[in-house]
Amino acid sequence: MALDIFLFPCLSDNYGVLVHDPVSGRTASIDVPDAKAVLDALQAKGWRLTDIFTTHHHVDHVQGNLELKAATGAVITGPAREADKIPGIDRTVREGDVIDFAGHPVEIFETPGHTLGHIVYYFPQDEVAFVADTLFALGCGRVFEGTLEEMWRSVEKVGALPADTKLYVGHEYTESNWRFAMTVDPTNQALIARGEVIRQLRAESKPTVPTNVAIERATNPYLRAATAELRQSMNLPNGTPAEVFAAIRTAKDNFKG
Ligand SMILES: [Zn+2]
Repeated sequence: MALDIFLFPCLSDNYGVLVHDPVSGRTASIDVPDAKAVLDALQAKGWRLTDIFTTHHHVDHVQGNLELKAATGAVITGPAREADKIPGIDRTVREGDVIDFAGHPVEIFETPGHTLGHIVYYFPQDEVAFVADTLFALGCGRVFEGTLEEMWRSVEKVGALPADTKLYVGHEYTESNWRFAMTVDPTNQALIARGEVIRQLRAESKPTVPTNVAIERATNPYLRAATAELRQSMNLPNGTPAEVFAAIRTAKDNFKG
């Protein structure tokens, strides 16, 4: 039976996400930006929390862990590579692990770059992935800990998931990501058209996520680093995809938009 997924904004631009299996009642919170916001969401849905799936150690993703664990008894799963930075962690996972969520397999991908231990939770049966700060709608996470080359491989890994895979991302940055994307990929008709959709959603204070792999492959400049258009736009006619990606990510770091 299909999982029920509930997305809600919290803090200034984070997203909280609850994943609920209606058969067993099992419910996971993807990260805990704010324990109170997650508890309110659980109450609104009438769900009881059993799991916390942590993607990475940044404070706006783990600061509610201990409070939420104390309030619900949830078991915290998180990345082995940064387990020492995840408050309350009970179970560590790494690349290639497949864990069970109420009969739904969950594949773990390590996606270093934003942080060294960042992981993605991919539910192949349900065609959904929780990618947090690895890939955003029209963007990708800032490279704080890994190398640009590592981040390219991580972004590419998410982009290689099946086209229909829904992507839940960690932040609502889509409007500003679109403004930057237009500076490096200005003739992309799919990107131009997406701008309208995004502005409409945001004007109504609606989330622009989930997105999906097909939409991101067509419009996300980081995932288009291997195309002739982006090579040309970044003045790297013979650049490798990793080099073009690095140039785009660096330009975004300096973008004032
Ligand atoms: Zn982060």
